[in-house]
Amino acid sequence: MGKATGFIEFERELPENESVSDRVKKYAEFEKDFPEEKTQNQAARCMDCGVPFCHSGCPLGNKIPDFNDAVYRNEWEEAYAILKSTNNFPEFTGRICPAPCEGSCVLGINQPPVTIEHIEKSIAEKAFEMGWETVRKPQDSTGKKIAIVGSGPAGLAAADMLNQKGHTVTVFERDEEIGGLLRYGIPDFKLGKNIVKRRVSLLEKEGISFKKGTNVGVDVKGQDLLSSYDSILLCGGSTIPRDLPIPGRDAKDVHFAMEFLTQQNREVSGSKASPKEKISAADKEVVVIGGGDTGSDCVGTSIRQGAKSVLQIEIMDKPPLERAELNPWPEWPMILRTSSSHEEGCEREWAILTKEFMVEEGKLAGLKVVNAAFENGKLIEDKKSERIISAQLALIAAGFVHPQKEGLLEQLEISLDQRGNVKTQNFQTSHEKVFAAGDMRRGQSLVVWAIAEGRQAAEAVHSYLEK
Ligand SMILES: Cc1cc2nc3c(=O)[nH]c(=O)nc-3n(C[C@H](O)[C@H](O)[C@H](O)COP(=O)(O)OP(=O)(O)OC[C@H]3O[C@@H](n4cnc5c(N)ncnc54)[C@H](O)[C@@H]3O)c2cc1C
Ligand code: SF4
Repeated sequence: MGKATGFIEFERELPENESVSDRVKKYAEFEKDFPEEKTQNQAARCMDCGVPFCHSGCPLGNKIPDFNDAVYRNEWEEAYAILKSTNNFPEFTGRICPAPCEGSCVLGINQPPVTIEHIEKSIAEKAFEMGWETVRKPQDSTGKKIAIVGSGPAGLAAADMLNQKGHTVTVFERDEEIGGLLRYGIPDFKLGKNIVKRRVSLLEKEGISFKKGTNVGVDVKGQDLLSSYDSILLCGGSTIPRDLPIPGRDAKDVHFAMEFLTQQNREVSGSKASPKEKISAADKEVVVIGGGDTGSDCVGTSIRQGAKSVLQIEIMDKPPLERAELNPWPEWPMILRTSSSHEEGCEREWAILTKEFMVEEGKLAGLKVVNAAFENGKLIEDKKSERIISAQLALIAAGFVHPQKEGLLEQLEISLDQRGNVKTQNFQTSHEKVFAAGDMRRGQSLVVWAIAEGRQAAEAVHSYLEK
């Protein structure tokens, strides 16, 4: 696959980003153009390794060496057909996937891996540019009606698959726009909302019906869906954030990350739905609590809003720069990652426990923190290190615990697993007619996993309807 000597001839190369000073003035994506020939050279680095571990590294099982080979040969339409055969939305994963495939690329054993994610984005964008990505109306109708609750990547992937099989699909979404976290969580600088709208518009033209602003369980009762549809697929996401119940939590200017990010996403798209009170980082010392993707998005957003300073703190130890001995290839490398938002001017500290939000005259004044380390599974505090970090805005980005139980899940009496996620067997819930996929089923995860689950759940629903 690729060019036999490509990995010797070409070094790993990715498109440059706009300078930090330019990109922080706006919320748009900031990757610069990259000549097509350079992408072909990158695809040529794929080295006919025999057993392509990247296949199993990708939750979708993308046929990576095959599309790399087609790109190298300048057969972009063929590359697109290969990519689309396993991935409904490569324009999303090509932008925001953390690319576990690259962690298991064979070339990555002793050289930088193939730039799989970038090649995927290039193929996806070429397909839109050339008109290969076009409206595909299903040929036949099965007469079966399916309700999908939630329009994130899991719901959209399942809707696409089931619609193409000839079922009549209606997607219910309680937000005012379609896309789930692609739309309201992930900032525009990582994934432009025009990219989400472009896909949703195609899906609509292909016959999928979207009912926006409809909270199932409130506006429509679970029992009504059960009696009106042949099957229901739950893709409501993992929406309950992990809180930090410490003194001062109810202070003004202590917010969950999603309150902050959703508001900014709405503002960027000119939404009229005005917030009760704008959460602003402008001229403030901001502390982001939590070292993951969501925290990183809070960093980039705070910097764009004009924060005086941004500090991201994390309870876990600083990860190593290189793979640890117990984390060998082809496992996902648990190493220190620096996102584009971190490059934009944030400080980071690890092994920090937040003890209290310090409040003065009802407003946040700082965070009382202490250094802490896990020893034999127990968190041990270094009392002597207790200190106050000055802050006027704190954003809690400590992950999500489980889906919302009140409303729909209670109405349908759906069983949950030990973690509080929807319990399934081959995507079927405790109710025969009801299926589940994505973060609502597996817990907070990744877009690529949501798409993979949406595809598999669609197969399970289809088999059920065929019985
Ligand atoms: C800030 C942030 C940044 C992230 N960044 C990345 C990233 O860079 N890369 C990555 O791979 N992953 C990222 N993730 C994770 C990724 O976004 C999720 O794993 C993925 O979106 C889950 O998809 P889903 O379809 O299961 O659920 P969601 O995307 O959460 O969508 C669920 C949808 O269901 C709707 N819904 C829920 N209940 C109801 C109801 N009763 N009636 C109607 N509608 C309902 C919700 O409004 C929502 O629109 C990020 C997550 C967050 C929070
Ligand atoms: S979807 Fe993600 S894991 Fe799969 S090939 Fe693309 S970048 Fe890699």
